[in-house]
Amino acid sequence: MLPLNEQYTFENFIVGSCNRFPHAAAMAVADAPATAYNPFFLHGGPGLGKTHLLHAVCHAFLARKGPGFHIAYFSCESFVNQYIESAEHRDLDGFRDRFRQADALVIDDIHFLAGKERSQDEFFHTFNSLYNAQKQIILSSDSPPRDIPTIEDRLVSRFKWGLVAKIDPPAFETRISILKRKAQIRGREIPNDVAEFIANHVTQNVRELEGAVLKLLGYAGLAHRPVDLDLAREALGDLIRRDDPHVGIDRIQRLVAEKFSLKLSDLQSRHRLKSIAHPRQIGMYLSRMLTSYSLEEIGGYFGGRDHSTVIYAIAKIEAEMRRDPGFKNLLDSLEGTLRRSG
Ligand code: ADP
Ligand code: MG
Repeated sequence: MLPLNEQYTFENFIVGSCNRFPHAAAMAVADAPATAYNPFFLHGGPGLGKTHLLHAVCHAFLARKGPGFHIAYFSCESFVNQYIESAEHRDLDGFRDRFRQADALVIDDIHFLAGKERSQDEFFHTFNSLYNAQKQIILSSDSPPRDIPTIEDRLVSRFKWGLVAKIDPPAFETRISILKRKAQIRGREIPNDVAEFIANHVTQNVRELEGAVLKLLGYAGLAHRPVDLDLAREALGDLIRRDDPHVGIDRIQRLVAEKFSLKLSDLQSRHRLKSIAHPRQIGMYLSRMLTSYSLEEIGGYFGGRDHSTVIYAIAKIEAEMRRDPGFKNLLDSLEGTLRRSG
């Protein structure tokens, strides 16, 4: 059984200008595997529907091609873990067979290969062997091929052989449609003014839009109240407070990247190089001081770290500020810039 989410279908995917092209491309791949676009490389920020589209293509394959069509669908993390395990058990042949017999190889979050040379090498061979056998390859990533840190050039160039498609954050109208559909799937309705209220405050991430709907509906159920603006303001209060136009994590990341001459994708990566890791810790610290995001959420914005990593980063930056007045000045000036501008 493939680990597919039943809800992640083409049918449930709302199309807008932000995703029209990747959606059309995914449909074309689903119609004509290994003929339309191969490989198909889908990228975009977190929570914008990459995994959803990948699952939608797999559902379509199964519906159209039947169970004889062999899909190897894995998160990149699972690919890497299986590789490591097979290497430990000296069963690389078994590993290779598993992947190379597939009619379609679908790997989610391929940026996870960054910095993992052996797994990259293995993936390179898997890729070539499937590609040469004219099998469909579908990959998703949170950044375009060239921006994935430490991915080898030979992989980057292969990713670009087929079609690279980007999903952007949804425009206002699309956010409204998504909110309404998410409520509808749950047999509920959201009035227009409430949908607009949410769409005005949650702008960058469809997962957060969906989270707002769930929270609102849950709150309405518990309080036995109708879904209206008052309820939305209460239920989603934290979401509004954090919407300080002056300081958002985006803005913090851009300022820190600029200050240390890094790429945004460096701050959002898991790279351990000190010249990247240290500014990333500064970014986490500033996010904690200046926004109301939780530790988990902050970790998510900085390369998918857990809350203990964020706690560690904050403690480290605080200690460094106590030790080094110059460093404290630097952080104070960054904080001042963030508070003043917007
Ligand atoms: P990603 O893999 O890009 O981080 P996901 O595919 O996990 O994002 O999407 C996050 C959530 O948002 C999922 O529940 C998904 O169904 C929903 N979602 C994203 N884009 C859309 C869309 N265009 N229409 C409907 N739901 C969407
Ligand atoms: Mg995903």
